[in-house]
Amino acid sequence: MMEALKLNQPDKAIKIGQDSNNDSNSFEMHFLFAKAYNQKKDYKNAELFIEKAKVLSNENWQKAWISVESIQTYYGLGKISEAKNVYEEAKAIPGTKNSDNELKYWGILFGFDELYKDWKTVESKNIIFHFQNTISEENIKSIVSSRQDAFDKINSFFKSELPKKIDYFVWDLPSNFNPHLNKNLGFTNPEFCISHNRTNQSAGHEIAHSITHWRNPNSLKLRFINEGIAVYFDQNKNDKMTSAKEINLSNPVSIQKMWQDGKEIDESLLYPISGAFVGFLIKYDKDKFLQLSENQTYENAKIIYGDQLDDLISNFTKELNSKNK
Ligand SMILES: [Zn+2]
Repeated sequence: MMEALKLNQPDKAIKIGQDSNNDSNSFEMHFLFAKAYNQKKDYKNAELFIEKAKVLSNENWQKAWISVESIQTYYGLGKISEAKNVYEEAKAIPGTKNSDNELKYWGILFGFDELYKDWKTVESKNIIFHFQNTISEENIKSIVSSRQDAFDKINSFFKSELPKKIDYFVWDLPSNFNPHLNKNLGFTNPEFCISHNRTNQSAGHEIAHSITHWRNPNSLKLRFINEGIAVYFDQNKNDKMTSAKEINLSNPVSIQKMWQDGKEIDESLLYPISGAFVGFLIKYDKDKFLQLSENQTYENAKIIYGDQLDDLISNFTKELNSKNK
């Protein structure tokens, strides 16, 4: 099971667990099932195994690891104060070096860590903002109003129901890299309605990720369409087609390839092209696009758009390659 989980294959891990002659009193088995369901973002099922694993945990390292999983489960179920309690208790458990690091990571992601002690919190209708204390009042004001405005505009399109307000962290760092979270900003964990942002990001990109996700939490996402939505709704004033044409000049692209095999394509190329393409599809037919947003695969697009899909792609490509007037 652990091997499959390391490869980010929770379904495979669950199958292995179910097929094995498992011992119903094994901490490890319950822990691994909990981890697998967390990986699938299926927090309801994860919770069942969390509770059993907790009862079966005797050693400190076991308690530490099940805490790391239960923080995610509780937060994902919207039990924020329970998640926070687990976090506070877990800090006192002498775990392993890795479990300590993981605990720290989730504490920072969710805003539980002490480093946020002197951050400023501002709440709007749909967003709870967390500002690093070096950000000016003027900047805070403009971020709060532009992001709430972005939320209203984007959600007037998707009409999603989010389970909680978005927790929107704004870091004031010298570069995109965030050493506390060990990754580049910004990013969104839509299943938790959490975004970690730079001060100079677009107003809508990260918010669009949470809103799209909650239109249908079981949606099938592909990078090309998912990032395309975030770019199209970023609320920047630039014309998306013009930006796409500019990048396409030096890097002529195949839409099918980007769509079906877009994982490794550099964002400087994929983002502008996908943003323009999403705009093109929305202009063509809004309702069809909303359907596509819930299952973003090329195969599903064939079902939604039928014979029109090939024409749509070739028309878009023609426009992409046409000279600017
Ligand atoms: Zn994005």
